[in-house]
Amino acid sequence: MTLYSHEIEIARQASRQAAALCLAVQAEAEQGLGGMEKAGREPVTIADYGSQALILSHIAREFPSDAVFAEERGDEFDTVATDSQRERVCQHISQITGTEIATSSIKSWLDHGRGSASNRAWAIDPIDGTKGFLRRDQFAIAIALLIDGDPVVSALACPVFPVDPANPSGALGVIAYAVKGQGTVIESLSETNRRQLKVTTQAEPSAARIVESVESGHSDHDFSASVLKMAGVAGQPVRMDSQAKYAAVADGRAEIYIRHSQGEGYTEKIWDHAAGVLVVTEAGGKVTDLNGKPLDFSKGGRLSDNHGILATNGYLHDKLLDAIQKMK
Ligand code: AMP
Ligand code: MG
Repeated sequence: MTLYSHEIEIARQASRQAAALCLAVQAEAEQGLGGMEKAGREPVTIADYGSQALILSHIAREFPSDAVFAEERGDEFDTVATDSQRERVCQHISQITGTEIATSSIKSWLDHGRGSASNRAWAIDPIDGTKGFLRRDQFAIAIALLIDGDPVVSALACPVFPVDPANPSGALGVIAYAVKGQGTVIESLSETNRRQLKVTTQAEPSAARIVESVESGHSDHDFSASVLKMAGVAGQPVRMDSQAKYAAVADGRAEIYIRHSQGEGYTEKIWDHAAGVLVVTEAGGKVTDLNGKPLDFSKGGRLSDNHGILATNGYLHDKLLDAIQKMK
């Protein structure tokens, strides 16, 4: 048995089931996506709650004493969801697991492991890119295990990501997963054919392909445009929601993901990056903050002292960091 083989198997299974739940909610088009607004005016849907409860039911069963940092909260589920929305979450989970689920179980799964003290902590985003999910664009289900703040296991399901980069209008839905020191693998959601992920060796900025957030409220598009120009990057960024951007870099579909956080005092949440960072680094890429420092996942639910992120194939990293320094 290799190191973390049980953890990666559970993360993979959980992200696969969560992806199925999210797609089932999208398929019930006439009933809507169950969009609601939570604290901070952020959108949340019944699929966010269903996905998180499902993932945490696996973590609670398999790794009951691990700590958890996960985006959604049981008390918010009570206040922002209606009775019929809570009922729909139960139905979706029951359908996927094949067992009858009560609303009370959902609440306790949603809060499982929150505030626990352990050097093992799961960082979970049940739907990363909820805005993309609502627009039926890219979104991801992100699960990472941190040991003493170091990401060691990650599963990143991207249910509407093209399986074959050469055929973007073909089959959709992948899971990229990684274990520290063991590389990154991608498999399609519908089949189990797998392949190893590898970043490109492109070292020429003028030929680099870039991804960034769709939301200018999440990442400063003017900043990235200036950095890219300064670094001699000729192409325009492809805008994509969620950690699918990390999967794009890991799979050689892009060389650069740049993010300059927006909003006074906003600090990035660990579940928005932990899974994606391991997927990129195990595929041979590099991820740092905009000063070239490694991301610090050891300070709780937020990346402390961070204003942005640079993920690249490695070959272009220093050139981009130089350009960022010159902008200051
Ligand atoms: P993306 O799809 O790359 O835009 O990232 C989505 C994530 O951005 C969400 O999960 C939010 O947690 C996060 N987010 C929300 N507000 C901000 C902000 N002001 N700056 C950076 N990220 C944010
Ligand atoms: Mg997110």
